[in-house]
Amino acid sequence: MIVMVVKCEITCPHCNSEAVYKYGKAWTGRQRYLCLSCRKQFTFSEKRPKETKKPHCPACGKLMHVYKREALKVRFRCSLYPECKTFLVINTEREE
Ligand SMILES: [Zn+2]
Ligand SMILES: [Zn+2]
Repeated sequence: MIVMVVKCEITCPHCNSEAVYKYGKAWTGRQRYLCLSCRKQFTFSEKRPKETKKPHCPACGKLMHVYKREALKVRFRCSLYPECKTFLVINTEREE
């Protein structure tokens, strides 16, 4: 079994830049981010993670299906399973 961990990249909703910086928590408990490109602040809810886009299998290129949803990550399994036993784990929260 191949397990890969992919960081979910957070992009700025204003300018789409990936140069975002964790900027403490808002009073609602949500993680606040600061965009280093346009200097705007924005938040993402940790309790309701965005719907994760289905990735393509890095081994065979087929679409992957959601296998299991966990609090902070989503596990995907290749749609060709059991022929292709590739699993993918996507973190829905950016790591420190
Ligand atoms: Zn920006
Ligand atoms: Zn595959």
